[in-house]
Amino acid sequence: MLKNKNILISGASIAGPTLAYWLKRFGFNPTVVERSPVLREGGQPVDVRGEAVKIAKEMGIWPRLQREKTTLNEIAFLNEHRRVGKINLHALRTFFKLDQSWVEIMRGDLAKVLYALTRDEVEYRFGDSIQALEQDEEGVDVTFASGESRRFDLVVGADGLHSIVRTLAFGQEELFERYCGYYVGLFTTDNYLGLADSALWFYSVPGKQTVIRRLKDSQRMGVCFIFKQPGKLTYDYHDLAQQKRLLSSHYADVGWEIPTFLQKMQAASDFYFDVVSQIRIEKWSQGRVVLVGDAAHCAALLAGEGSKLAMMGGYILAGELKAALGNHHSAFSNYERVFRPLVTAEQAKVKSSANYLVPETARAIWEQNHLGPLILPFLMVPGGLWQEWFPKPSTLKNYADSPLPA
Ligand SMILES: Cc1cc2nc3c(=O)[nH]c(=O)nc-3n(C[C@H](O)[C@H](O)[C@H](O)COP(=O)(O)OP(=O)(O)OC[C@H]3O[C@@H](n4cnc5c(N)ncnc54)[C@H](O)[C@@H]3O)c2cc1C
Repeated sequence: MLKNKNILISGASIAGPTLAYWLKRFGFNPTVVERSPVLREGGQPVDVRGEAVKIAKEMGIWPRLQREKTTLNEIAFLNEHRRVGKINLHALRTFFKLDQSWVEIMRGDLAKVLYALTRDEVEYRFGDSIQALEQDEEGVDVTFASGESRRFDLVVGADGLHSIVRTLAFGQEELFERYCGYYVGLFTTDNYLGLADSALWFYSVPGKQTVIRRLKDSQRMGVCFIFKQPGKLTYDYHDLAQQKRLLSSHYADVGWEIPTFLQKMQAASDFYFDVVSQIRIEKWSQGRVVLVGDAAHCAALLAGEGSKLAMMGGYILAGELKAALGNHHSAFSNYERVFRPLVTAEQAKVKSSANYLVPETARAIWEQNHLGPLILPFLMVPGGLWQEWFPKPSTLKNYADSPLPA
């Protein structure tokens, strides 16, 4: 007999719906609460690779992800006047016969696929948020911002870097945040530069990177600003107009197309701005409350592995709850034992990718523009040759096939 079947998940992005899917499949009864009034779209392309591919296949969404994927064919490095370096990924893939066993997909499209898969079977409460949590031996009393109160057996924080569940059950964000020294701003706009088929362009000035790319819809392009900022900025997380002003002031002295981008950003409805920080927390559970995805272990926006880790975390957490027949003590500790080593390794990669992505001196920019085309395919290009040539053996337990314990 399964215990602790009624589970509240806070956050409907990647980790939350993945977890909800697997919990439902394993016989639990998940409810998802999402602060945004509708599913949040937006964000740049993210990768579903490695173990996350196996999970997506098992969920039956792999064909859909392949249909929705964005294929990057070219990376170019620009200076004020011209293109100074280029990587032809299409040619590389063809030459090395890479089968591309992963997908790159817009973050919002991935969230939509996961939501569509679960929305008929899982209760979603949009436009609400947990306001208070009180747990005892038997369950957790939850008060929502809407005023409603309900009791659940377990509560999961899948609510990202600024998780409310983590704040309520574990302590203030500052206790667990490792600031990486950068901020990121993203939005989409019309492809007025006429970017060709899936090209990614980098334009750097010291400490400020701008990355643009054409989206699947060829009429649109994504703009991503990443800038170095020695100390943390103070601003209201919910005030997008303030965040746009902040970003504009940081890029006010930058040339090329930046003034036009900043102007277009003012009208963008999908603008997203956030700090590049990691979350490091000694233990991912507190009694009946547990964290998953960025809420537990954000590896920082720059790492690009957040979605893969979020899908894996959701799958492993649900799988361990199934294996323990819902006993949260053993399930939560097994989830952590299985998954933490992988997360720790991903978090360690962030500093080197940040240094490379946002060069700080004219010399470092020169190196990025001219040596990048030689080095990048091996290090960071989606489906980097290295990973394709030397794939790691899978360590993921097959929770899906193992029969439900009697
Ligand atoms: C709009 C958006 C754009 C992004 N763009 C990129 C990108 O371009 N590149 C990249 O690498 N990563 C991006 N990310 C982060 C990326 O989605 C995560 O790193 C990764 O997928 C892990 O997902 P997650 O589900 O753990 O957390 P997140 O994707 O951060 O999702 C957390 C969810 O919880 C919700 N939430 C927050 N607070 C509350 C609350 N109090 N109550 C209820 N719900 C709450 C949020 O609205 C969100 O839907 C973006 C995230 C968002 C939300």
